[in-house]
Amino acid sequence: MPDLYIDGSWRGALDERTREIRCPADGSRVGVVDEAGGKDTVEAIAAARRAFDEGPWPTTAAADRGDLLLRVADLLVRDKDALARAESLDTGKRLVESEYDIDDIANCFRYFGRQATAETGRVVETGTPSVDSRVVYEPVGVCALITPWNYPLLQTAWKVAPALAAGNTFVLKPSELTPHTAIHLMRLLEEAGVPPGVANLVLGAGPEAGAPLADHPDVDLVSFTGGLATGRALMAAAAGTVKKVALELGGKNPNIVFADADFETAVDMALTAVFLHSGQVCSAGARLLVEDGLHDRFVDEIVRRASRIRLGGPFDERAQTGPLISAAHREKVEAYVARGLAEGAVLRCGGERPTGPGLDDGFYYPPTVLDECSGDMSVVREESFGPVLTVERFSGEAEAVRLANDTIYGLAGAVFSTDEAKAQRVAARLRIGTVWINDFHPYVPQAEWGGFKQSGSGRELGPSGLAEYRETKHIWRNTDPSPQGWFD
Ligand code: NAD
Repeated sequence: MPDLYIDGSWRGALDERTREIRCPADGSRVGVVDEAGGKDTVEAIAAARRAFDEGPWPTTAAADRGDLLLRVADLLVRDKDALARAESLDTGKRLVESEYDIDDIANCFRYFGRQATAETGRVVETGTPSVDSRVVYEPVGVCALITPWNYPLLQTAWKVAPALAAGNTFVLKPSELTPHTAIHLMRLLEEAGVPPGVANLVLGAGPEAGAPLADHPDVDLVSFTGGLATGRALMAAAAGTVKKVALELGGKNPNIVFADADFETAVDMALTAVFLHSGQVCSAGARLLVEDGLHDRFVDEIVRRASRIRLGGPFDERAQTGPLISAAHREKVEAYVARGLAEGAVLRCGGERPTGPGLDDGFYYPPTVLDECSGDMSVVREESFGPVLTVERFSGEAEAVRLANDTIYGLAGAVFSTDEAKAQRVAARLRIGTVWINDFHPYVPQAEWGGFKQSGSGRELGPSGLAEYRETKHIWRNTDPSPQGWFD
């Protein structure tokens, strides 16, 4: 069965190219998928344009669009096992994590299914009896949705669900490394009754399959989640046609632990913050800031527990985290560690590829702790996107805030303290989009997700998630028109 979904039909690439997908946990073959080139993407854009301009989706009643999303949520639940398995095979992540993800994804479709009718416009009082005036929300048009490999279907859901709820048509391009759950989702959209041309899928590499999405004049909006360098390039490419651009980029997220923090909780969460999914999480707490008096005891305990974390494949029930996504990504992580050590960091654990049964064929890298780091090191400033924790010391509230904000990123971060007022003061001064107090990682679809500074230029989830995919139009109607006589 071909894998590109364009104008309501499944087909292969025009030049018949394919790509083999292998599981990063053991190199086993997961499948072969069709690989689009630029011409396929241009066809998908044309289909989305026609479906938008000729309808019926953009003018379908919001309640009906919402109902469709609710049906998709039910289908996701029905297919949860197959989806979770496919996600784990493509990414190498533990099956249990993929299962959580599918629940989140169904919730996301439910949330935007309900949001579709939450606010559809408002009447504006002008005070003039012969005028009625209202503000309405309309879909933006053709949306290009480009997603990464770390949470493939979750990141896709965060875009597809609001885009459809608002009445847009779209072309989705998931990461070339993790295509399978996007294919499955398109089958579910088809089953739920999405009209032809509304939802289109192209698979393939960014520079070929993805590039037309950023500069094609028939695309109205680009919503991108991925790395900073790609985001910058897409923003520049989209400028020629002044597209709306929503970017969800990287993070180098501070985790601030004050000496008065609850020790057990802060240790436990600092480990989850950085080592969950082997650090391949945009909100990973990869930058630990520990208050002076607590530093030695805290870092010793982190190192003790990090050294014991069990690595393994998606279906190994004893594994606590999995491999990195690719050989190239592991090399990038290794290069950051090497540079950190050259710049003066002290290696406390990890730092070397693990070997042994079940590990030799995958792209594993161990939980790694680099102590005595400082804010000028590249391993502290840049996103390694691997299981690498850098540790810096601070003394007092002001220094914690200063260090935490000394970064080009502003996605997420946390404050651990039993002093509620201090934690709130620090949270208020952090220039980041999501601040957790005495917690790390949770999110809810009702609250906006997005970054300050170079972590992004958009908001997914929450009411703003839907707003990204809407245009606001003011309609003024003169109910008693008569000549004004200005140029008689
Ligand atoms: P990436 O930038 O390499 O790729 C992301 C997507 O962009 C892929 O689909 C890729 O094929 C596509 N792409 C690449 N070049 C392109 C081009 N020229 N034109 C069009 N598309 C192009 O990122 P990645 O390695 O897949 O993902 C990891 C990054 O994603 C990390 O930096 C992480 O922080 C970030 N991320 C951010 C969030 C968030 O919510 N802010 C969530 C998840 C991941």
